[in-house]
Amino acid sequence: MGYLKRSKKNYFYVRVDLHTHTWYSPDGMMPPELLVKIAKKRGLRAVAITDHNRLTFWRDPDILVIPGEEILTSHGEIIGLGLMEEVPRGLSPEETVDRIEEQGGVAVIPHPFDCFRKRTALLLNYNLQSVGRCVVEVLNARYVSWKAYEKALAFAVAKNLPRVGSSDAHTPWEVGNAYTLIQYCDDLDGVLKQIKRGEGVPKGRLSSPIVHIFSPLCCVAHALRIKPL
Ligand SMILES: [Zn+2]
Ligand SMILES: [Zn+2]
Repeated sequence: MGYLKRSKKNYFYVRVDLHTHTWYSPDGMMPPELLVKIAKKRGLRAVAITDHNRLTFWRDPDILVIPGEEILTSHGEIIGLGLMEEVPRGLSPEETVDRIEEQGGVAVIPHPFDCFRKRTALLLNYNLQSVGRCVVEVLNARYVSWKAYEKALAFAVAKNLPRVGSSDAHTPWEVGNAYTLIQYCDDLDGVLKQIKRGEGVPKGRLSSPIVHIFSPLCCVAHALRIKPL
């Protein structure tokens, strides 16, 4: 129950990490139980599991686990939060956002303007109508510099889009490094509503660039059917 003790000081605000990966992602390292255990230890109130093109469900009595998916569309990646059904990869951004919203979910553009992830930049140039229905992940702890944050923030402010911050954790050392501060909330609907209304505040720090070494290693381990942790 460490998370309750920690949040006492700041009772009306809680931290949620809306972008993490388990070993069900080809480049992920953690079994879901480990991810959730660390999220609780770090005092998070909610954590979204957003595996690549796969919906992973997990439950825990002490923390809200949000079912999500990082979907590769025809023009870049979009995260769906609060999903009940997997959204197939390869659809257009509009269709992907439609499928997310039909389920009552919220669409998020992950790590825009990150020079290492050209696919998202492609989405931003593609169609502002579908982008206009999304939340922008302005802070991603896997950014290698704060420049990407500054650009994403300027974009979200200019377009008047809601903003979040997330860790994009693929390893145990990253969980909760960046997060979104929201008002105390116990249920999925409440969290999603605050995010969508733009009431969340992105916070946190960047992870060490060393974490990038692990993703290709995890891909090799998965190919060889070795469980990394
Ligand atoms: Zn990944
Ligand atoms: Zn990711």
